[in-house]
Amino acid sequence: HAKESGRNTYRFFTEQMNANALERLQIENHLRLALDRGELLLHYQPQVDLTSGEIVGAEALIRWQSDTLGFVPPGRFIPIAEESGLIVPIGRWVLRQACLHARAWQLAGHQNVGVAVNISPLQFRRDDIVATVREVLRDTGLPAALLELEITESLIMQHAESALETMQNLKALGVRLSIDDFGTGYSSLSYLKRFAVDRLKIDQSFVRDIAEDPDDAAIVRAIIQMGKSLKLDVVAEGAEARAQVDFLVREGCRTAQGYFFCPPVTFDVFSRVMQTGMHVRAEDFRQPPALR
Ligand code: C2E
Ligand code: MG
Ligand code: MG
Ligand code: MG
Repeated sequence: HAKESGRNTYRFFTEQMNANALERLQIENHLRLALDRGELLLHYQPQVDLTSGEIVGAEALIRWQSDTLGFVPPGRFIPIAEESGLIVPIGRWVLRQACLHARAWQLAGHQNVGVAVNISPLQFRRDDIVATVREVLRDTGLPAALLELEITESLIMQHAESALETMQNLKALGVRLSIDDFGTGYSSLSYLKRFAVDRLKIDQSFVRDIAEDPDDAAIVRAIIQMGKSLKLDVVAEGAEARAQVDFLVREGCRTAQGYFFCPPVTFDVFSRVMQTGMHVRAEDFRQPPALR
């Protein structure tokens, strides 16, 4: 009997493994065609200056509406794109598209609204990222200062020496560099200084519970303070509730993004949001509650 149930368990796991492998393969195969089929698009999430309430930039976030698979979230397909190498052409497309859009905002009168683009580790290492960025800036006419590249701590720590060189070459083009999901990896402070990083993006897992969890509050406070001492801009990710925004304002965090202000939206909606403002008025949170 035991033998039989063991065999069933085994079969269950193999079937599960096969199903997962099959799904990955399916995603990979369809992703291969997604670019040419025009199934990919970018959404933009406003980044808000907490002292003025103004939109100072947007993060570009990829969306895939597959004809056959339906909507596939980036958390599902980006890792597969990374493993299969598809992230290189996709990432190049993202960069170009985001710069084109940011250039359009600039021409529409939003001179200082920059765009932040997520750069995956493989894209950063394998593709000639510096040449690509230079080319895209030249072709689109976007001022380099309006482009920000988001990379992760693990990318830096795993390939320290080559990463340093690439980052310095990117900095020489005039673009800005930020560390995404900051706090979840293991980067050292000396590295951050040495790597000429401009901004830290506090991971949303810390922001989520700042109003209730004293540990998360302490971590976020420490990152904000560290940013001040190292003269790094700090962006809080995933601000969903009023209490979180109040905390960030009180602690002197400069910039935030999150559903509280606006979810990621299409280019058209983002352009409209810049014209009409977000549903949340700056006056509602600009003053730290203690000062009111
Ligand atoms: P990320 O770069 O850390 O992006 C932030 C994620 O948080 C986005 O998820 C965004 O939609 C979500 N978010 C924004 N505000 C809130 C909020 O208030 N609450 C919560 N719970 N979530 C919020 P998304 O769009 O699903 O992207 C997931 C991840 O996929 C990104 O994390 C990024 O690592 C990756 N990704 C997205 N677009 C690209 C891309 O063009 N290239 C690369 N290489 N990676 C991308
Ligand atoms: Mg990001
Ligand atoms: Mg993040
Ligand atoms: Mg992430």
